[in-house]
Amino acid sequence: MRVLITGGAGFIGSHLAEALLDAGSEVQVLDNLSTGSIENIRHLKGRSGFHYHIDSVDNEPLLAELIDAADVVFHFAAAVGVKLIVEQPVHTIETNVHGTEVVLKHANKKKKLVVVASTSEVYGKSNNVPFRETSDLVLGPTTKHRWAYACSKAIDEFLALAYWKERKLPVIIVRFFNTVGPRQTGQYGMVIPNFVRQALAGEPVTVFGDGTQSRSFTHVADVVRALTALMKEPRAVGEVINIGNTEEVTIQELADRVIRLTGSSSRVKLVPYDEAYESGFEDMPRRLPDLAKIHAMIGYEPRHTLDDILHDVIRHFRTR
Ligand code: UDP
Repeated sequence: MRVLITGGAGFIGSHLAEALLDAGSEVQVLDNLSTGSIENIRHLKGRSGFHYHIDSVDNEPLLAELIDAADVVFHFAAAVGVKLIVEQPVHTIETNVHGTEVVLKHANKKKKLVVVASTSEVYGKSNNVPFRETSDLVLGPTTKHRWAYACSKAIDEFLALAYWKERKLPVIIVRFFNTVGPRQTGQYGMVIPNFVRQALAGEPVTVFGDGTQSRSFTHVADVVRALTALMKEPRAVGEVINIGNTEEVTIQELADRVIRLTGSSSRVKLVPYDEAYESGFEDMPRRLPDLAKIHAMIGYEPRHTLDDILHDVIRHFRTR
């Protein structure tokens, strides 16, 4: 199998690249290193079947050539991380919408399967948990930049599904729920790498808001296992599929747990949302996936608990 991963030097993309190489696939990575890092793929360089290109999906001649040489495309190149999105809304919208447009356009020429990375962020502030793929998306006003991310990803989903409906381009849309694991950086706001770094440095662990908001975190190894099964599943084509974990935790409890597991002397510091992000910032109170669809399709169940995730991330930070 020949696979192209846009954003393959990113956190999830690099783990996927490794798993596909292990399974004997040939892997091409296209990444402009905007949020990805060469460090993420350094251990893959020199492996047989691995090739990478430090370039953007905006380089359409290169993109077209790479898609032409692939059997499957994972389109993971995107602007991610709430902090980045709030700080650079123009970049977010342009990258996420334009990138998907050009990938789908070129994949359509020879009808190459495209797996489009979307996000649980599209469910927005809906409190109708657990979120099913058919649930309504509840977004805030356009004056709040956070929602630009969900909206840009929703457009990507609409466009991919339109290509499937109208032009028979095979697509699979996956919605990730707070994927975490080794190599994720806290630089773009993600909570677990931030808490672990703070706890190991003995700094205050910054809980935004009052800490009662909850999330369900997914180990990147579970996500990768789901992706490699879905790409071979004909029933996944034309579908939107949640990939996540149902173990829920409040952010306050998460902070306490990180402090305990690292044996840190850090204290929790509550930081108002206005200070953490921007004035009037809206967070979602809960975000929990319904996994019935992916379970029925490929028998997926998460194998890693939150404690497994925390142990792996702590070990990663300690050995860096
Ligand atoms: N968060 C926090 N402290 C941090 C970073 C994030 O309390 O240093 C909170 C954030 O406000 C949100 C949750 O942790 O409620 C998860 O944030 P993240 O950015 O990891 O993902 P999100 O679910 O918001 O996409």
